[in-house]
Amino acid sequence: MLGLAKRVKAKILQASTSEVYGDPNVHPQTEAYWGNVNPIGPRSCYDEGKRCAETLFFDYWRQHKLRIKVARIFNTYGPRMHPNDGRVVSNFIVQALLGQDITIYGDGSQTRSFCYVDDLIDGLMRLMATGDQVTGPINIGNPHEFTILQLASMIVEMIGARSKIVRQPLPENDPRQRQPDISLAKEKLSWEPRTQLKEGLVRTISYFEKLLAEDSARKILTRE
Ligand code: UDP
Repeated sequence: MLGLAKRVKAKILQASTSEVYGDPNVHPQTEAYWGNVNPIGPRSCYDEGKRCAETLFFDYWRQHKLRIKVARIFNTYGPRMHPNDGRVVSNFIVQALLGQDITIYGDGSQTRSFCYVDDLIDGLMRLMATGDQVTGPINIGNPHEFTILQLASMIVEMIGARSKIVRQPLPENDPRQRQPDISLAKEKLSWEPRTQLKEGLVRTISYFEKLLAEDSARKILTRE
């Protein structure tokens, strides 16, 4: 893709990730932080793959003056998430709507900061509209941080579900905390997220309600 962008002289976006910070020792994470990633762990292929992609983008920028834009995207949620991809927001909503147990990995004290998809898209569009001197990396995320337990309680309450919360083992190298410092996005893009978690969850829950009303989706998820 970098070679193609060079040939056709295109501006190119890398959808990078907060995973480049690994299990961070610096909190909140600024773009200047180099991260704390286990190179041989079970989630390393994603983390290191994205880190390597950032390296290649900056090599092309240095060597070929390619117009790059690198966004580090923090946990994003919203309508059209796949109900089965295993991420926390979709898992909890689907479980609550189906009255299944809510699966908390570990003790639920780990934190994430959830960004509504429309806010993310707005940030990415603003990044693409910046002058060539703005390469990033630039954090795009919502700095409002929640524990996973708080998220579970919020979703159960909003849905009025009878699900019970159960504990499952914490995956290896699961980051303990994550919160973006978005000072750079504020400065360079005049951007900050506008959607509060509760408001975004209302729209996401409504999406999944409609989806689960379809027989085919319900059958797959309940293995009927
Ligand atoms: N998680 C959880 N239950 C689930 C799915 C995820 O407790 O059913 C936890 C997971 O261990 C992590 C957090 O929720 O601490 C966010 O997980 P997700 O996969 O959505 O994003 P990531 O770990 O990549 O930030």
